Amino acid sequence: MSYNYQCDTFDRDHLWHPYTSTTNPLPTYKVKSAKGCTITLDDGTELIEGMSSWWCAVHGYNHPVLNHAIEEQLHRMSHVMFGGLTHDPAIELGKLLLKIVPPSMQKIFYADSGSVAVEVALKMAVQYQFAKGNPRKNNFVTIRSGYHGDTWNAMSVCDPVTGMHSLFGNALPVRHFAPAPQSRFHGTWDSTDIEPLKAIIEQHHAELAGLILEPIVQGAGGMRFYHPQYLREAAALCRRYGLLLIFDEIATGFGRTGKLFAWEHAGIEPDIMCIGKALTGGYMTFSAVLATDEVATTISDHEPHAFMHGPTFMGNPLACSVACASINLLLASGWQQKVKAIEQQLEEELAPARSLPQVADVRVLGAIGVIETRQPVDMAWIQRRFVEEGVWVRPFGRLVYVMPPFVIRPAELHKLTTALVKIVSEIKN
Ligand code: PMP
Repeated sequence: MSYNYQCDTFDRDHLWHPYTSTTNPLPTYKVKSAKGCTITLDDGTELIEGMSSWWCAVHGYNHPVLNHAIEEQLHRMSHVMFGGLTHDPAIELGKLLLKIVPPSMQKIFYADSGSVAVEVALKMAVQYQFAKGNPRKNNFVTIRSGYHGDTWNAMSVCDPVTGMHSLFGNALPVRHFAPAPQSRFHGTWDSTDIEPLKAIIEQHHAELAGLILEPIVQGAGGMRFYHPQYLREAAALCRRYGLLLIFDEIATGFGRTGKLFAWEHAGIEPDIMCIGKALTGGYMTFSAVLATDEVATTISDHEPHAFMHGPTFMGNPLACSVACASINLLLASGWQQKVKAIEQQLEEELAPARSLPQVADVRVLGAIGVIETRQPVDMAWIQRRFVEEGVWVRPFGRLVYVMPPFVIRPAELHKLTTALVKIVSEIKN
């Protein structure tokens, strides 16, 4: 089918979309509704959802259980401030989270979005070091190919060259970057992989508050899957040199990598952990920063005896109630088998792409399938081709990838993988 693309002129003339121009924007496709794993466009075209709306919609769209949770809460209250007030949705969510996050995570700070969670985590680490009597320990080390969000400090720990933010280089705080781990998740561990990070920490620990990284899966910075041993060695270095270990599980959380959270692949617990995205099943923006008692108590025992952050929509009851419903639904859904089945199907059905001349690498972990091309893709062309094939896939750079809702049926996933391999094979190098 050749898709007759009609853009909305108001949208084109006035609405700024992510990472595109206003004068020559990439096309946008107008959505009428979404249900299960199907996105329906304004003209009735149906697309199988391959992106889970950027890692979020693990249960698919318009889910009756999630709709019900949010409707019920709406009639009680949509929002109250969290300063001086609390409510059942926040408390219930906290109880649920403590059952599924690393046991050492005992304190929960609710925030508005993934990027804000990263800001909060970095501030927490600096305030912790200050309280410990180490005011000079206020910088961060991270690894290349990372992505942590679009706000100022989150940007500063994204990959400085290949990341989306290289343009802001001069204006950002200068962080320390170790090369991205080279040992692949399914490969053998190369013990020299940790050496560059070790050298940075040995040299600069007196000024480092912490190490922040995405455990196991580096998402928007390169869709890379690295070896769990890297986390074990990195954690040992942090302990030895008094750095806090911060895991950004905003993309990896809630089953996506085959474990409920990616730290479980390595058995390493962080000092601070950020979660977001699928936390609300993709219904609302919301995140949480989890910390050990040690971090929270150290901050709280020192002047000004408070953590200095408090967003207006902190602990939003609608978000908390839909998050509770989403987590309960996930835990009761047999998600492990579902993710395993998706992983197996992705492995089998993306494998033929390995022999394509356009393709540099194919990799799969959990419900994430990646085809890395040799050249950056032509976004407008490839996006239209995916819509013509009846699927929603949004590549970037050299990465054509899918992370479908866990409820996707084998036939729907087959349609996605078939389109992926077919369209990548059409790329003209
Ligand atoms: N960290 C990671 C690992 C992410 O993938 C993202 C979002 N892509 C963020 C942080 C930022 O989250 P948000 O877009 O909700 O601000």
